[in-house]
Amino acid sequence: MNTNVHDEISQPAKMPVLFIGHGDPRLVLGENRFFDTWGRIGSRLPRPKAVLCISAHWETDGVQVTAMEKPRTIHDFYGFSDEMYAQDYPSPGAPALARELAASTQAFKPELDFDWGLDHGTWCILKPMFPLADIPVFQLSLDRNAAPRRHYELGLELKRLRKEGVLIVGSGNIVHNLRHAFSPERQSGDMQNTDWALEFDATVRDLVLDRNHAPLWDYHSLGPAAQMAVPTPEHYLPLLYALAASDSSDDVSFACEDMEYGAISMRTILFGA
Ligand code: ZN
Repeated sequence: MNTNVHDEISQPAKMPVLFIGHGDPRLVLGENRFFDTWGRIGSRLPRPKAVLCISAHWETDGVQVTAMEKPRTIHDFYGFSDEMYAQDYPSPGAPALARELAASTQAFKPELDFDWGLDHGTWCILKPMFPLADIPVFQLSLDRNAAPRRHYELGLELKRLRKEGVLIVGSGNIVHNLRHAFSPERQSGDMQNTDWALEFDATVRDLVLDRNHAPLWDYHSLGPAAQMAVPTPEHYLPLLYALAASDSSDDVSFACEDMEYGAISMRTILFGA
């Protein structure tokens, strides 16, 4: 008997939700523990029908969803080696799912986008997770004008996609202060003054485990550590989509809890995996 028959006729499994701390794009070149961790996550997941990624690196006015057949690989970084610009992640798009999402959501009406593609917040983590690039991928943009609570509410509308076999992935970093990470003091090896990074990362961890989401979208109220950890919102906001798409019945686990350069949290969270 053909063992694939069962897979083809069965209902898609309810997919987990991920938040991945993506860090330096060059991690995609491999031979590092983050690349290996993402690879292990991908190999253990049920095979998704598609991946919907909310990346820190796509901000727009209003909400957009990529709807092209073949998204291009965007090299949205500067000054890296030729090897980085030669990277390609030729996964198909998911235009039918994008159209369905645009037509069926209540709280927001994403516009269909045919120009973007896959930015490095998406392909740098999907390449280790799904190296064959044979799973359709689409992206949802971050509305740069929306308040954090609004991002969370948009995430609630994505939750139902899990039952359709769509893997929802938020890609950012809970703590992301590049100015501090690459300050002269840090470059000279001064490891002091990173308590705020560890404090905020731990605060987020505890609130996630407690499923206490309101302080997480109202993160400005979390004190001075939050101001330092989230100097600009774009790397933090993808977390809110993952939280909103999670269920109270989902197991929560952390595949990675590292802090890079004292100021970039690589914390990776699995919901229901
Ligand atoms: Zn980034």
